[in-house]
Amino acid sequence: MNEEDSEQLQIQLEKMGFKKVARPQLARIILLNTCSVRKKPEDKAFSMLGELQALKLHHPETIIGVCGCMAQARYDEILKRAPHVNFVLGTGDLGNLTGLVQQALHGQRRLKSISLPERKGATVADIPTRLVPTVKKIKAYVPIQYGCDKFCTFCIVPTTRGRERSRPVDDVVSEVQVLAGNGTKEVTLLGQTVNSYGKNLPGGKFRFSELLSKLQNVEGLERIRYMSPYPRDFSDELIEVIATHSKVMEQCHMPLQAGHDDLLKRMHRVYTVEGFTKIVGKLRKRMPGIGITTDIIVGFPGETNAEFEATLSLVKELKFNGSYCFAYSPRPGTPAASMEQVPSELKMERLQQLLKVQDEVTKQIHEGLIGKNFEVLVEGPSQRDPGFLSGYTREGIHFCFEANGERAGRIAEVSATGAHHWGLTGTTVGLPN
Ligand code: SF4
Repeated sequence: MNEEDSEQLQIQLEKMGFKKVARPQLARIILLNTCSVRKKPEDKAFSMLGELQALKLHHPETIIGVCGCMAQARYDEILKRAPHVNFVLGTGDLGNLTGLVQQALHGQRRLKSISLPERKGATVADIPTRLVPTVKKIKAYVPIQYGCDKFCTFCIVPTTRGRERSRPVDDVVSEVQVLAGNGTKEVTLLGQTVNSYGKNLPGGKFRFSELLSKLQNVEGLERIRYMSPYPRDFSDELIEVIATHSKVMEQCHMPLQAGHDDLLKRMHRVYTVEGFTKIVGKLRKRMPGIGITTDIIVGFPGETNAEFEATLSLVKELKFNGSYCFAYSPRPGTPAASMEQVPSELKMERLQQLLKVQDEVTKQIHEGLIGKNFEVLVEGPSQRDPGFLSGYTREGIHFCFEANGERAGRIAEVSATGAHHWGLTGTTVGLPN
């Protein structure tokens, strides 16, 4: 979501005539788009603001803006600790960038554009205006829902991004049509709980599965992904749509967060281990080979050895293709921040244990795929070795392969010959289109 917000900010600056430069020292405007989901990125943002203070001493004309979740939640503190900042811009106010930049160009500082989080049941009127990029992009993010109504006890998102509201169906479809017309082959639909899309729309409820069906018909579009579904809202009907719609990829990133019901309860995740396991089973039954990844938090307040061991065994049992694992980081103002904390060393020890287990699972899965063929949307030369091309399989597995010439934007059929912790390597079998 932050990456997508950064793109919206970039498009606005380009419309004003600004261009990207190679180094901060050359910039007239520097924007920090911040994240509040853990403490580490917040610390990093404050440390960068310190560096920018030094830069501003030598380049006093440089405009510095702080955007995103941290600006939304901690704007007063930012303006106090970093008086060299020209403006702070909240998550719901990205469209106000142009106005703030114009004021800052006239030498103003300490400006702010922060809207209060939306009320419960917010309607489409609270949806920010979006700018669709006109440059050709093989893959694009398309936000379809903003904010979140789930209120997990560890999470700051409902505070920084407000209540859940969905973009109107026609808006989403027409954006995807424009993107596909400009050459985009793959879209990733974004939402904090993307599969609960469609509540509170003025025309009545519209299901996420129905939206997928509509997008299946967009001419020129080849692939649809979505991030992140919430387990409780994963219906059988949605599984059927994913399985039967050729453009919807056989990939699912579904956050588990913890492998023990008591932990899930303390996190206010409203599903059980059994419920989650059932969805994984149904997805795999309907789409053998589907790529399933997840998010896991270790060291959540009060996490016992038994609870952590339950998470470890569930990871072994469910065999995720990959997991984004994090040590719990208290977010001020959230209920979990005032619960009994797990000591840092223990959290880090558990994190290492979990990463090791997941690495082994991923390695085994990738080794089992050697000799199989995959469809890869070619993105261009591999960053690991420019002599190779790279892209992702339908299942979301990173794939590097030898091929002659540049074929970005096409779908290549490839055969896996090598397995790595990050993905697969192989050779081209054919280029079907
Ligand atoms: S569902 Fe996701 S975004 Fe919403 S509160 Fe929970 S963790 Fe945060």
